[in-house]
Amino acid sequence: MEQLIYLDGNLVERDQAKLSVYDHGLLYGDGVFEGIRAYHGRVFRLDQHIKRLIRSARAIMLDIPLSHEELVEATVETCRANDIRDGYIRLVVTRGVGDLGLDPRKCSDPSVFIIAANIQLYPKELYETGLPLITCSTRRNSPASLDPGIKSLNYLNNILAKIECIQADVEEGIMLTNGGMVSECTGDNIFVVSDGELVTPPVEAGILDGITRTAVIECAQAEGITVSERMFPITEVYTADECFLTGTAAELVPVVRVDGRSIGDGKPGETTRRLLNRFRDLTESEGTPIYD
Ligand code: PMP
Repeated sequence: MEQLIYLDGNLVERDQAKLSVYDHGLLYGDGVFEGIRAYHGRVFRLDQHIKRLIRSARAIMLDIPLSHEELVEATVETCRANDIRDGYIRLVVTRGVGDLGLDPRKCSDPSVFIIAANIQLYPKELYETGLPLITCSTRRNSPASLDPGIKSLNYLNNILAKIECIQADVEEGIMLTNGGMVSECTGDNIFVVSDGELVTPPVEAGILDGITRTAVIECAQAEGITVSERMFPITEVYTADECFLTGTAAELVPVVRVDGRSIGDGKPGETTRRLLNRFRDLTESEGTPIYD
């Protein structure tokens, strides 16, 4: 079946889904996006993703030509057109075509495109064996320079850190704030469990306020686990009983080594497992239906 891409109001074949080389999304990373999951024929937390997209767009003074409801409808329609039940959705808004200068006022027509594809899942074993991480030397963007709460097309900060991970032969890496505290990973949020308490850096640590992060905090509260959002140094990761990452693609993935040190007993922990099970229950029970 030919893959259909939503592009500015039309569903077009993948080979025909093209943007101009003058689009400022390409020239300057001037645009915003979301990565969304569909589970069992339903889109998970779609409203929250659309809200974050709209907030990101407002932060960069980008007027999305579709309303919240129209974005929901376009996303669902794209899934339906591609027969998606379990998949990954990429929703992107670019500043549109301008000239070679930065001035966004030269771009009068933002472009909206949506790709809905079958997801490349992390290997199943990873949830059993857990991930090794490194601490990256690339610091997370300071919110005073480029707020990581804006999910923009400008991901070079994360890509530089990801290159460090690749060189070290690991999937993910921890990024610190300019002040040296733990912020998040290149494409995931981070949690530690110490003395039965769940701890994660706050939004002020220059993180993307992850939709999965919020869902996992809700799961923890439902499990009666105390959650604390506060700054902590990398030492607290090294000495934690458990550590895991959250993200739309990763879901909730255990971490077993950081910078060559074993976390806890070097195996995915009990609290991590409990939360992963709860999170999976959530993905099976809620979402915006794609099909009637
Ligand atoms: N941090 C960064 C930098 C991300 O790009 C992402 C999304 N891949 C996340 C955290 C996790 O956010 P979410 O749970 O909304 O996918």
